[in-house]
Amino acid sequence: MTRTVCIGECMIEMAPTDITGQFQMGFAGDTMNTAWYLRGLLGAEHQVDYFTALGGDSASRQMLAFLRQAGLGVDHIVQRNDRSVGLYLIQLDNGERSFSYWRGQSAARTLAQDNTVLEAVLKDADYAYFSGITLAILPPQDRAHLRDALVALRARGGQIVFDPNLRPALWSDPQEMRDEIMASAAISTMVMPSHEDEATWFNDRAPEATAWRYAAAGAQTVVVKNGAGAMFTCDGGHGAWHDPVAVKDVVDTTAAGDSFNAGFLAAAIRSAPLSEAVRSGAQLASKVIQSRGALVALS
Ligand code: AMP
Repeated sequence: MTRTVCIGECMIEMAPTDITGQFQMGFAGDTMNTAWYLRGLLGAEHQVDYFTALGGDSASRQMLAFLRQAGLGVDHIVQRNDRSVGLYLIQLDNGERSFSYWRGQSAARTLAQDNTVLEAVLKDADYAYFSGITLAILPPQDRAHLRDALVALRARGGQIVFDPNLRPALWSDPQEMRDEIMASAAISTMVMPSHEDEATWFNDRAPEATAWRYAAAGAQTVVVKNGAGAMFTCDGGHGAWHDPVAVKDVVDTTAAGDSFNAGFLAAAIRSAPLSEAVRSGAQLASKVIQSRGALVALS
């Protein structure tokens, strides 16, 4: 029995349907996608919680019902009656997807306001999972609250799993993003970056450079995802390459990284060797990118 807590923002997704001008409402968000897949992969003996803040309105209640129905633990979710949840709209223009966001005032931005709530959420957790997006939406002092609570969990023997998920548009400037990401990697036991983003924002020439940079910051294990290319891991100072899973027809790469993380983490939670965990991550991601949407049924 283990308990994993995924921390971040879930949003309402409005996605175009086949009928012109009509949209379908769903729920998605990087850390929630990972929690959702993790829940589907792990047996009932493992608990998976989602921690965020929601509003008190009907959209928030629908989101809460969705999370609960997915089998995620929602007991610690904070309710802010003066806020609502964030929303994004996907639009198709000649087959190209573009995204518009309304998330500036979302309740999730307040998730780390209160140290005592964070301590209670993480009290008996074995794994905590968060991302660069979780950090980006928080005010600076709340990022410090979150890191303090994670440091305390690590000191108790917990695993801190971090996906840098670099999204410069959510940060006030790229240097702030780089500083916060490195500070968070330094307190994490596992860091799971995507090489393409890291190459753009940290000038890493190859996946090894990404891995060693995070290892030097203090991460015990670094798993560098790499699109269709070979992945690189560094674990306790030992580096290794891993073959990709070939995909002929990529339909939609949404949630490739989020699902990879869930596949990897589910295997790691079951104490699988690193190479097997990477394979599980890549296999799940390869399945997810062959269907449309972030949340693809596992069976
Ligand atoms: P990325 O964030 O683009 O590096 O993708 C995350 C993971 O999803 C990769 O490490 C692969 O396991 C998988 N993936 C993404 N794109 C592809 C692709 N075109 N072919 C096969 N696997 C992919």
